[in-house]
Amino acid sequence: MNHGIDIHCHVILMGNPDEVIKESMHKLKALINIATDIKEAVQSLDLSKKYPKFVFSSAGLHPEGAASASEKEMDEVLQFIKDNKKHLVSIGEVGIDYFWVKEQEKRKRAEEAFVQFIELSNQLKKPLQIHARNSEEKKTAFSDALKLLTDNNARGVAMHSFSGSDEELLHAVEQGYYISISTIIGRSSKHKRLAAKTPLDKLLLETDSPWLHPFEREGKNYPWNIIESAKIIAEIKEMKPEHILQATEANAAKVFGLEI
Ligand SMILES: [Zn+2]
Repeated sequence: MNHGIDIHCHVILMGNPDEVIKESMHKLKALINIATDIKEAVQSLDLSKKYPKFVFSSAGLHPEGAASASEKEMDEVLQFIKDNKKHLVSIGEVGIDYFWVKEQEKRKRAEEAFVQFIELSNQLKKPLQIHARNSEEKKTAFSDALKLLTDNNARGVAMHSFSGSDEELLHAVEQGYYISISTIIGRSSKHKRLAAKTPLDKLLLETDSPWLHPFEREGKNYPWNIIESAKIIAEIKEMKPEHILQATEANAAKVFGLEI
């Protein structure tokens, strides 16, 4: 029996999604494909129909897109999520990005969009997959995202590819939010420390593939590499990798309401 769920990957952007999914089916329990815009969301829903109970879909608008989206484009995304809520397991990725979004005006626009997604999440009772990224000059993406989440009473939150500070991690866990550790843990001592500090019942695994290969900076990443993360975290937490895969799988099934 395979265990482990990659809660955040972009199989659509991998060139050969069917091959990647079939290979993943030999190694994992399930995966969640993330759509960053409507076009990807349509493709993702097709994959979910083709591979039921294995490929799940999440739809949202990446903060970089949200920063320059018109009101009409934003409404289209919100409406799409409402119309397809039965087939979506989460809203995201959505959030705050100071790395790609530099102008003050655009940052404000992205923040307003983020709040709209949180409100929709509450309305539809769908969890959120949160993207947060700092820039050199502004390192508060995680705390700013957390503030907006708590101010707007967000329920069901997964902090995708978490790389905030120890304090931000603690704050997120206190709120009952889940911490998703990406495969970058293979080459990052910071992420090893964050994983050590995350309670097992709040831990999720993801690849963010095709990016964030566990060992090579330029390597192409695949969903099954969460197994590499499980080995590393198992060593840190002094458990068996199988136990990490099972526990994180149960967490994912709970927060996203997956029927697997
Ligand atoms: Zn992503």
